Amino acid sequence: MYFSLISAALVLVSGDFVSAQSATASGAVGASSTSPYLPQTSPAYLSNITKPSGVVDSYNFGPYNTSATLSHEPLNLKNYPKPWGKPDPKHPEVQAAMKTINWDKVPKAPTRKGKSNGDLITDNYDEDKDPYCWWSDTNCVKPKVSYLPEDIYMCPNVGDWGLTYDDGPFNPNHEKGPLNDDKWAEPQLYNWLAEHGNQKATLFYIGSNVVTFPEAAKRGLNHGHYLCSHTWSHPQMTTMSNEEAVAEFYWTLKAIKEATGVTVKCWRPPYGDVDDRIRSIAWQMGMRTVLWNLDTNDWDMPGDGGGDLAPSKVDGYFQGWIDKQKAGKYKTGHILLEHELNNSTVSMTEKWLPKLQQVFNVVPALACQNITHPYWEEQFVYPTEAHNTTKSHNSNSSQSQVSASGAASSVHAASIQPSAQASAQPSSQASENVDAGKNNNNAAAQGSDVKNLDSDSSDAGSLVMPTMLTLGAAAFASMAIVN
Ligand SMILES: [Zn+2]
Repeated sequence: MYFSLISAALVLVSGDFVSAQSATASGAVGASSTSPYLPQTSPAYLSNITKPSGVVDSYNFGPYNTSATLSHEPLNLKNYPKPWGKPDPKHPEVQAAMKTINWDKVPKAPTRKGKSNGDLITDNYDEDKDPYCWWSDTNCVKPKVSYLPEDIYMCPNVGDWGLTYDDGPFNPNHEKGPLNDDKWAEPQLYNWLAEHGNQKATLFYIGSNVVTFPEAAKRGLNHGHYLCSHTWSHPQMTTMSNEEAVAEFYWTLKAIKEATGVTVKCWRPPYGDVDDRIRSIAWQMGMRTVLWNLDTNDWDMPGDGGGDLAPSKVDGYFQGWIDKQKAGKYKTGHILLEHELNNSTVSMTEKWLPKLQQVFNVVPALACQNITHPYWEEQFVYPTEAHNTTKSHNSNSSQSQVSASGAASSVHAASIQPSAQASAQPSSQASENVDAGKNNNNAAAQGSDVKNLDSDSSDAGSLVMPTMLTLGAAAFASMAIVN
């Protein structure tokens, strides 16, 4: 069955592309079928992975299981590199993935080097010409390579607040330090989001965290979040050779696929470190690059794997963003960078999200870009905002119940192709408050090893019925398209 689904996804590539083009007919991308963008390539090498149990087959509108415990049974770790280790680029599966890439299309950008303190060496890079659109040096989000779309880094509509959490799924570490982080590990955040307005987010998963805690990844999918990749071991990707980059991507794609049954079409570079070489490899492995334009710096607060940033500073960021929104000073929406990393980051989101929900339209980062198909398994159709849809999409907003299958047949397939509105935005937007996210370089600090793996009670528990989809009435309007 899975082989056929993947085959279908492959066939749909071109159709999806045409659909996206027609959706952006008035925008910068152009309406003709001769767009410079190549479609992403579905990673066919994952077609032999068996569908896991306990996951939904399509977008889940609820009810949601919010039991407080999850099994800590890992995937079969013999089939993967050592978690948090550097994957062997010569592994046959990596080499097979290498063969699927057209290397003539990959820019010959140098493999970058880091300093002893972990900072990237940018001294000899031509920042004015920025030939490889190296975000770490210039905050570039518009690739110089003609077939690559602009990175997704913001929400086009003023008032939209694109929610993202990196570095998950948050594994318990069983090291009973002073913060006792275990109770903050998943499913704490996912349950909390479900219980606070059925809030959805875009989750950027580290492959190493998925293989050691696949049940948490399942819950992320089952709760209707968007799943994306955040590499296997969280390196600065421009310091990886081509083979090493493919290995980081490949094992993470495989881990998410084996844990949840989906093949993701999006990824976020750790520390934002990406250039056109890495973008083009990701794109040819089926993924579009996603960044941010507001950074909480939450990872740097004291906590397991954290730093020494005073939480009051982060409080100040949030209050400042709220004040600015209330004052009408924003010209676009935002994509926010947060982490599901430790007690501190999760409790910070629990403190501020209810306040944000009162001021912003809080949505998953990809929803504000009208991306309905975040996976190569096309039966997953996610609800999006109505903002970017045609008037007819708003004609039946009184519809209160939409089944997953109904949504699948009616929602316009925007896929993950570039949005005209996003393309029209100036790249300078990406530089707002991103300095903190630049060259964070705490790769070693982020995400601790899982030392022990318990198993505990089953995933049977309380269920949360969605009273209103977090995307709100706009989402229902979008779903209620009359064909
Ligand atoms: Zn990260």
